[in-house]
Amino acid sequence: MIDAFVAGTVLLPDGAVAPGVILVDDGTIVAAGPQAAVVIPTGARLRDFGDTILGPGMIDIHVHGGAGHDFMSADAAGIAAVTRHLARHGVTGFLATTVSAPWGATRSAVERLSRAGLRLHLEGPFLSPARRGVHPVEDLLPPTLERLDQLWQASSGRVALITVAPELAGAPEFIAAASARGVAVSMGHSDADWRAAAAGYAAGARSVTHTFNAMPPLDHRAPGLLGFALSQRELFAEIIADGIHVAPEMVDLFLRAKGRDRAVLVSDGISATSCGDGRFCLGSIEVEVAHGACRAGGRLAGSVLTLDQAVRNVMRFAHWPLEDALRLASANPARLLRNSTKGRLTPSGDADCVVLTSEGDIVAAFIAGRQVD
Ligand SMILES: [Zn+2]
Repeated sequence: MIDAFVAGTVLLPDGAVAPGVILVDDGTIVAAGPQAAVVIPTGARLRDFGDTILGPGMIDIHVHGGAGHDFMSADAAGIAAVTRHLARHGVTGFLATTVSAPWGATRSAVERLSRAGLRLHLEGPFLSPARRGVHPVEDLLPPTLERLDQLWQASSGRVALITVAPELAGAPEFIAAASARGVAVSMGHSDADWRAAAAGYAAGARSVTHTFNAMPPLDHRAPGLLGFALSQRELFAEIIADGIHVAPEMVDLFLRAKGRDRAVLVSDGISATSCGDGRFCLGSIEVEVAHGACRAGGRLAGSVLTLDQAVRNVMRFAHWPLEDALRLASANPARLLRNSTKGRLTPSGDADCVVLTSEGDIVAAFIAGRQVD
């Protein structure tokens, strides 16, 4: 059975068409274009979204949990609850993100999440003690090929992204080996100077983790990892656009530097997301949430941002149109991960899509053509 999704505006990779249609067969897009150019087969099930906007589903490559569940401990029901919570916010794909923990706990979390069919972002333990944020210092480890291999085996090859501080001993070799397996490496939680950042990039690093956070601030005589992130045209860079981790004016400045092809919105969302204020867990770390800010021992510890709110914030902070803001949460993370079937509404791509209002509010989300309630 073919589904025809029709909407007032459809956001395609080359621009918006109005009105537009995508045809979906068995979870895959088989045609996409202006309504006048796409023939809807007789017998197709018509899903008409009226005057709304149909766009690619969002992909959160840095999320630790949500709706009361933390990926470091979530069981199958918890994982399903987080998946539903994310979809309600327009996120149709994500990387379950770990936090530094004792080595055995990291390995078992990686095994459990992989068995549940998730793909992973390992945030730690290969981080700089000087820029660890709330990651427990005693759990940090130097990056070695042996440890990479152990985590790769534990995940059955489902590690998609690893955050590494490029200045650590052995980091360039680690980055090269991870890249050779198709894992994207992101530089972060790092005290790296320009030279160490450049060495990490030369070894294969493709992105920077929550730019501005957990790295030295910008110094005009010592540009460091942050200066490197802002100035390297090809390097992707994550940003937590909640207005708390980075001031709205600096989000605007960041977007001017990285542009519409390399900036990547992430939530860094923790279990507390959509749970209100209170005490929550991020791995073994106890986090206090008050007025939308997550702190542990006075330091920021993840966020309660949702990715749809990040998109709306970009529209507000930088006066970007919805179409461009959404791209930072869909096409860009997919391209960072070299995933050609997600992040864009295009024939032979997965039918992961969202229906939005012109203000960026989520009306509905579909994963492989099926609506998530
Ligand atoms: Zn972090």
